[in-house]
Amino acid sequence: MQKNNLKKGDKEIFGIIEAERKRREETLEMIPSENHTSPAVLEAMSSILSDKYAEGYPGKRYYGGNEHIDEVEILCQERVKNLFNVPFANVQPYSGSPANMAVYFACLKPGERVLGMDLKCGGHLTHGWKVSFSGIYYESSFYGVNEKTHLIDYEEVAEIAQKEKPKLIWVGGSAYPRDFDWKIFKKIADEVGAYLAADIAHVAGLIVSGVHSDPVPYVDIITTTTHKTLRGPRGGLVMVTEEGLNKDSKIATKIDKAVFPGLQGGPHEHQIAAKAVCFKEASEPDFKSYGSKVVDNCKRLSDELTKRGFDLITGGTDNHLCLIDLRNKNMNGKRAEDLLELSGITVNKNAIPYDPAPPAKPSGIRIGTPAVTTRGMREEEMIKVAEVIDKVISFDDEDKAKKMRDDINHLAKDFPIP
Ligand SMILES: *Cc1c(COP(=O)(O)O)cnc(C)c1O
Repeated sequence: MQKNNLKKGDKEIFGIIEAERKRREETLEMIPSENHTSPAVLEAMSSILSDKYAEGYPGKRYYGGNEHIDEVEILCQERVKNLFNVPFANVQPYSGSPANMAVYFACLKPGERVLGMDLKCGGHLTHGWKVSFSGIYYESSFYGVNEKTHLIDYEEVAEIAQKEKPKLIWVGGSAYPRDFDWKIFKKIADEVGAYLAADIAHVAGLIVSGVHSDPVPYVDIITTTTHKTLRGPRGGLVMVTEEGLNKDSKIATKIDKAVFPGLQGGPHEHQIAAKAVCFKEASEPDFKSYGSKVVDNCKRLSDELTKRGFDLITGGTDNHLCLIDLRNKNMNGKRAEDLLELSGITVNKNAIPYDPAPPAKPSGIRIGTPAVTTRGMREEEMIKVAEVIDKVISFDDEDKAKKMRDDINHLAKDFPIP
């Protein structure tokens, strides 16, 4: 590619990107919502398609010159439909939050009711949280997790739904280490006549790999990001299922209208091309084995941490992430995040369910295996990672954490980023 142009034309940005490349090569990215995309995805993302205006949809654009852009977008839609086995997809949302916004815009009028999982129990901001558009313009209520088991209490969800009568129910989260029972959610939504939306931003890649339960037979609408376990470019996506079309035959048209002209202008066709590349990669057999390795690695990491006295929320994991309650280690999540960063392991501080501590210094950290698995790490490496995490947290000392960095650098260099 035209690599040297940036080096010659903008030394500052080039330098910063190179520094970030070095940081990534030398450290382990263990934030569950991150991954390393393939060079093919990145090439599509930086292509000339970025220059084109294409407001509208294939065959119905408000700008000329879109014959090839239409081919890109149609191919992308077809790949989504095949990959997830759904009859409709809108591939234009710029990211996960705009995809969710489109669902609100399509299904609800401002002030109508939505029920989502509490942010404090692992849900997402866009599922009705008060500082987000979803809590400001819509009347939101929440279900949480059981105070002891930290699992979703389906009876409680049903009770809240009966009481609140929401028009839209969200299932999905950012820090829930277990699978969802879509079937029960469907029953609950049907009983109150609500649309049921699955937000699979975190687990989409696991679902297409067959290692996480599939919402398609049960929910009406599915949204996802494309950059988490799906390992594509930063982006979003809305799908409608057969169930959804049966419930509301106009729902697909409503979603299209909500995305454009409701919320967005010109779609980012370079990003749509990169999403299409991601869907092709995700439909290949290698990706299935990637998904199952992500989960195996995470289970191993969680077992190794448990052996070393760490307290895992729900006692372990079914997916790509684990949430650790650090209170028995006498450390808050912020301190752990900082110390682990010094040692070369990037994680993020995270509230645990019913966290007594403030959000700036929550009681937990969230750790995930999607990115390290992309580098080719397996269970053996997860043992080493657990050892380093254990030492860094028990030493509780900056200098000692920094000394661990050599071990992590070596490990990282043995597993180059694709
Ligand atoms: C990450 C995430 C989103 C939002 O995606 P952005 O691309 O950051 O806007 C939405 N829902 C869930 C459950 C997520 O984890």
